[in-house]
Amino acid sequence: MGKKGNSSRYCTFCGRREDEVPFMLQGINGCICSDCIHLAEGYLKDIEGGAKKGKAPERIETLKKPAEIKAFLDQYVIGQDRAKKQLAVAVYNHYKRINHNLVDKAGDGVELEKSNILMVGPTGTGKTLLAKTIARMLDVPFTIVDATVLTEAGYVGEDVESILTRLLQEADYDVAKAERGIVFIDEIDKISRKSDNPSITRDVSGEGVQQAMLKLLEGNVVNVPPQGGRKHPEQEFIHVNTQNILFICGGAFEGIERTIAQRLNTQVIGFGSSSRQKVDKKNLLQYVSAQDMRAYGLIPEIIGRLPVITYLDQLDRDALLRILTEPKNAIMKQYSKLFEMDGMELTVNPDVMDLIVDTSIKNKLGARGLRSICEKIFDEAMFEAPSSKNKSFTVTADYAREKLKDVF
Ligand code: ADP
Repeated sequence: MGKKGNSSRYCTFCGRREDEVPFMLQGINGCICSDCIHLAEGYLKDIEGGAKKGKAPERIETLKKPAEIKAFLDQYVIGQDRAKKQLAVAVYNHYKRINHNLVDKAGDGVELEKSNILMVGPTGTGKTLLAKTIARMLDVPFTIVDATVLTEAGYVGEDVESILTRLLQEADYDVAKAERGIVFIDEIDKISRKSDNPSITRDVSGEGVQQAMLKLLEGNVVNVPPQGGRKHPEQEFIHVNTQNILFICGGAFEGIERTIAQRLNTQVIGFGSSSRQKVDKKNLLQYVSAQDMRAYGLIPEIIGRLPVITYLDQLDRDALLRILTEPKNAIMKQYSKLFEMDGMELTVNPDVMDLIVDTSIKNKLGARGLRSICEKIFDEAMFEAPSSKNKSFTVTADYAREKLKDVF
């Protein structure tokens, strides 16, 4: 340990001489000043505190790479490659960002901003499934909320804070855990601004909710009622910091193709446009942009907080067929399991698969309809299987057609 005045020694960390710092500590190969000791102490506390709360920063090498995230999604979600890739990058960056901001507080001062995601695509194409699968992979609390039940504070309906109440419940009220969770806000298109003109009547379920939601998306400390709702005014608030919560929003944005087409048309005429690029008119959703979201009625502040905009394709016949059998927990695999538990081997002829998919397409049920069609085909067999002596059961197209004839 040295005294002031001996200016030949300097701090190995900040480079200042002994007479420039309050106090210097001598080590074997160098010195450290009291200022750097304090800085290091704060830094250590941050890391240890984080570790205690389950927030230990992961090394970048241990984070799943975007390609690995996509490969994981591929096991559960059919198609939607573009959305998967964008989601994978957004999630990877999100966790990189959390680590960076946690570790690099005293570092280069580059604060990475959040990459909340907006998914646009017809209903039943896998938006919720993608969000759920991501949460399963990351093993973080996950909640789904329907934007249509939300209203501006003070009006009938749920306050936006209730979103965080649910996330807290998912995290067993472990605030630190909830603060790294994922929230999926479904039907975000239903809270679009009702008209372009500010109206005399308040738009409490549209723009009002968007305004209220901003404070969650921006990354703030929000007072959350632990039980949700407004019925318990006496309950104490829990403070939740939304800075590291990943928000994924989804919506069908019906009719958005018209807006996209209009924009593309004007762009083609417009000066300096890349008019030579050919527009694929059959799949206009792939060109969706922030501009279209604005035209649809999302306020610019919300759009600004959803920097990743991606789209999902309508599922075609081939995709529906694959959904029946390919995902890790595909519907057919689930039925096989159920029969197997009753000691019965299930065989489903390939033409039954075609029938199921065609029935779903004919009734415009999409992927969601596949299960209800299967239920109808299997219900009687599932009733009988547990008490049957048979060791196998084969579903033929005729059998399936007979089962479906009155319903679909
Ligand atoms: P969305 O949120 O887009 O309305 P969901 O993700 O809720 O649709 O999809 C409804 C159901 O349809 C899912 O639970 C899943 O069983 C099935 N499904 C939809 N899209 C896919 C897909 N791309 N791959 C596998 N299953 C899908």
